[in-house]
Amino acid sequence: MKVTIDPNSGFCFGVNQAIQTAESELEAGNAIYCLGEMVHNKVQMDQLKAKGLIVINHTDLPSLIGRKVMVRAHGEPPETFQLIKDLGITLIDATCPIVTNLQQKISESYTSGQASGAQVVIYGKSGHAEVAGLNGNAGNDAIVVTKESDFEKIDFSKPTRLFSQTTMDGEGYARIGEAIRKRMLEVGNSDLNINKSVCRQVSGRAPMLRVFAAEHDVILFVGGSNSANGAYLFSVCKDKNEKSFFISTKEDIDLNWFENITSVGITGATSTPGWLIEQVSDFIKGL
Ligand code: SF4
Repeated sequence: MKVTIDPNSGFCFGVNQAIQTAESELEAGNAIYCLGEMVHNKVQMDQLKAKGLIVINHTDLPSLIGRKVMVRAHGEPPETFQLIKDLGITLIDATCPIVTNLQQKISESYTSGQASGAQVVIYGKSGHAEVAGLNGNAGNDAIVVTKESDFEKIDFSKPTRLFSQTTMDGEGYARIGEAIRKRMLEVGNSDLNINKSVCRQVSGRAPMLRVFAAEHDVILFVGGSNSANGAYLFSVCKDKNEKSFFISTKEDIDLNWFENITSVGITGATSTPGWLIEQVSDFIKGL
């Protein structure tokens, strides 16, 4: 049985950079407190916690004066950075530069749109940490939508600035953008600005993943059950190859999946560590 690891799998560079920052701090013996889970992958998080990373939430901040607090790749709203500063906490900012750039664009768009009454709409998952950070840069006034049934919150007569959470699917974003345009045109409004803000590390993977999924008899998709990006990329595999299976670790593997097949492709989400994918590959090769 031929086993192939998807060459495009493994952490995206934003998550990779954040994890490297945390690991080098921990190796230097520093106590690091991270605001929320660094990555939507339990196996990787367990490993970081074993090395000493402590996951906290915002209500813990006042008790961490003088300590080092890390902001993860998803970023945070401006209020969090202000609070960290006011409390005299040492900040380790591991916000992905692409997210920082998007936050700045949203902030500029929000500020410049005040005079014309423009609204900021974000295509993303309500409650997701990145969306909270993006919305914070729009005065927490942005309208968050994931599907057309959320459109009741949009005023289609207003100028609209549309952005996407970086890890949403590009095809879904295009559909939402066109649906908003159509509803705006129905009330004679064409002032819609659609910003290309899906990260290329995500949007670029879907077409390559379709090819990879079609090339193998069975696909093992390694990911965390709480990863939005993992759920989307897995659906891309499943669409192309019915024999695609979502696993979090090698323990989830069912040996019946490999009956009468000659090739297995192993891939994962942008939050899946390369070492975990290697571990699954070694296990299959050892069968
Ligand atoms: S998916 Fe893209 S924007 Fe999001 S953390 Fe990774 S590299 Fe950064």
